[in-house]
Amino acid sequence: NQELAVKQALDEALENDTVEVFLQPIIDSRTGCLVGAEALARIRDKDGRIVSPGLFIPLAEKNGRIVQLGEQVLRKTCRFIQENNTSALGINWINVNLSPLQCMNKNLARTFSQVLIDYQVSVRSIHLEITEESMVDYTLLEDQIDALQCAGFEFALDDYGSGYSNLTRVRSYPFKHIKIDMAVVRDYYSKRDKLLPTIIQVFKQMDYTITAEGIETAEMADALSGIGCDYLQGFYFSRPVPFDEFLEKYAVS
Ligand code: C2E
Ligand code: MG
Ligand code: MG
Repeated sequence: NQELAVKQALDEALENDTVEVFLQPIIDSRTGCLVGAEALARIRDKDGRIVSPGLFIPLAEKNGRIVQLGEQVLRKTCRFIQENNTSALGINWINVNLSPLQCMNKNLARTFSQVLIDYQVSVRSIHLEITEESMVDYTLLEDQIDALQCAGFEFALDDYGSGYSNLTRVRSYPFKHIKIDMAVVRDYYSKRDKLLPTIIQVFKQMDYTITAEGIETAEMADALSGIGCDYLQGFYFSRPVPFDEFLEKYAVS
């Protein structure tokens, strides 16, 4: 039974502190240089095979383990920043995904701030991504998001265009960055109509930075930077990879 196997893998990874963090580079569309990365959680089944976050994240959200998981991902990301000269690699910040379920925890902002102190990492080095899908009930998120914002964290709206947002709702959150969902990027790339370019212009006039997700080819990179995306992320540049592989790829020689 797959769900049971996923649950066991998750419990074990949390218990043994073996949740892995993979990094996917985020590239400046003008210079082609590395500017940041997204931290993505990975766990392994008992045969050592990677279990997809698409399987264990929903489960962790359902059974509350997401609080522990999210903290472990933040810790490991901060430790990576502390132990490596990430700014020398060109990294200005690393995006960490934040589930709305984590915001139900009243100590979230305090815990996150303490993790940064533990690893002597500046709050400017971490951006928190919240998916559009999770914005259904703002009142649920509001207190912790306000507290995190007061602590200095910046927020990115993840998977824009896949969920429920309207522009009023987007504005009611303290987002500084918007990530365009992969499906929206594909849709634009195949149709080349004016919808996405126009939306991006509006966002840019409101001073959001725009990242296009799911860039798989050079042509997609050109098309999306051509309509004003500041940053690009996708398999064309790199899949999410373990820390050591990331360092190997981007270390200045
Ligand atoms: P996301 O935050 O939108 O992350 C981007 C996902 O798109 C990643 O999937 C990444 O591997 C995939 N991706 C990136 N570039 C491309 C591309 O060019 N083509 C294609 N086809 N896919 C691409 P991943 O790592 O499987 O993660 C899936 C989702 O799981 C994430 O979507 C995020 O919502 C969630 N997730 C992952 N790690 C965490 C975590 O630590 N905490 C929370 N709350 N959620 C997480
Ligand atoms: Mg994300
Ligand atoms: Mg995304």
